[in-house]
Amino acid sequence: MYLDLNTSYKEKMSDNKFDYDIAVIGGGPGGYEAAIKAAQMGKKTVIIEKDKLGGTCLNVGCIPTKTLLMSAEALSAVKDSKKFGVVGCDAAEASLDMGKVQKRKNKVVSQLVGGVGILMKSNGVAVESGQGTLEDAHTVITGDKKITAEDIIIATGSESKSLPIKISDKMDVITSTEMLDIDSIPEEFTVIGGGVIGIEFAYFLASIGTKVTIVEFLDRIINMVDKEITDLVTKQLEDMGIVIYTSARVTEITDDAVIFEKDGEEHAVETKKVLMAVGRGARLDGIDTEKLGIQTERGAIVTDNSMHTSVPHIYAIGDVNGKSMLAHTASMEGITAVETICGQDSVMDYSKIPSAIYIEPEIASVGLTEEQAKEKYGDVKVGRFPLVANGKAKAAGNERGMVKVIIDEKYGDILGVHLYCIHATDMIAEAAAAMKLGATANEFTHIVHPHPTISEVLLEAMHAAADGRAINY
Ligand code: NAD
Repeated sequence: MYLDLNTSYKEKMSDNKFDYDIAVIGGGPGGYEAAIKAAQMGKKTVIIEKDKLGGTCLNVGCIPTKTLLMSAEALSAVKDSKKFGVVGCDAAEASLDMGKVQKRKNKVVSQLVGGVGILMKSNGVAVESGQGTLEDAHTVITGDKKITAEDIIIATGSESKSLPIKISDKMDVITSTEMLDIDSIPEEFTVIGGGVIGIEFAYFLASIGTKVTIVEFLDRIINMVDKEITDLVTKQLEDMGIVIYTSARVTEITDDAVIFEKDGEEHAVETKKVLMAVGRGARLDGIDTEKLGIQTERGAIVTDNSMHTSVPHIYAIGDVNGKSMLAHTASMEGITAVETICGQDSVMDYSKIPSAIYIEPEIASVGLTEEQAKEKYGDVKVGRFPLVANGKAKAAGNERGMVKVIIDEKYGDILGVHLYCIHATDMIAEAAAAMKLGATANEFTHIVHPHPTISEVLLEAMHAAADGRAINY
């Protein structure tokens, strides 16, 4: 049964003994998309959100970060404008007015958050503001209200982790949430953790003129990315003046320094400001997993690939299940949970989830790295293509980077695609689609790509992987 999108939830007929068919706890991209899908599939739905709709992604994550990065990009464009023949602006004087940058960011965020509210209304989803406490498999308490639902979807997200070390109160230690509100250009910053958040902010800060140091525990930054690309990114960041310490374990934050251990020796980076970016952990406020009997592992709710938890009628989607802390994973898990509740055979495929890192050039991947592919399949073929050989990249003056495709030696199945180039985060969807539809590299080479576009680099890398050589290189 599909209902008219404008039907108010109050008008919906519900023949079960609960107030709602589905209650969603948490209004981030996982929760709010699940709620919309549920309403579209005819379920009387309520969403419970203690803060603002849109969750981390819209309010203090993906969207504000990308908005700040766009300001950094605009600044770079002005600084580079001379090489495009622009005259009449003093590039040396160009800088960011952080007050105006923040104003623009806040406007973008509030428009999108408002948009989610409108979507709730137009889809007939009830919104309850307040902290939701899960009482049992059918009951959520918020304030003095008791809300019952046949099925519950937990979508409470995650929060920044810290380190179990001595941290001086006198040091200004912030997380990505506070970093998004900086209203002046810091002179220097030390970033603990060279993961996605650490790298995106290190890049942003260095682009606006801040002296940045990264201290990373593992032997390389962004270790989830193909090593060849990590090496190129490391070089780029170092060229920007960022100092990177790897294989470095932070042991203490004093009044004026970050202390770390490297190669058995103690080192100190003197600093006034620290960004803690050592990962995020599931947020379980209001979800007493032990009392409810919900199984957890390393602090996250355990689910199967159809999003069932260990308790019937309770589902968990997004960061709270710790499987893949990405907004787009959360949204797909939300849709999977709703389809499962509606009786469909819906299963998540975690092997083809694209990921993106927003520096310039961008980094985007789907599937296995070369290392992982070799480990799993033994012999593989690798195709590469450099951006310097792409016409549009040359015209754009952005020829940095390369793309890389890993295929199965025997059948040519696409195992992994890694892009480090302009527009990478938009282009990775094509690779994900090809992999999802089971295309081989040879089949991919017969897909006509428009010219001149950056997307041709992926076609070329597929040629290189399938036929041993690219056409234009
Ligand atoms: P992360 O897991 O990506 O990186 C944390 C890093 O901190 C790791 O490299 C780890 O080795 C390092 N670390 C841990 N302990 C340390 C210590 N004692 N000393 C030095 N380094 C230490 O986590 P994150 O960057 O905080 O991001 C959190 C989550 O948010 C991730 O799952 C990420 O995918 C997601 N996220 C995604 C995007 C995006 O898709 N563009 C953007 C932001 C965040």
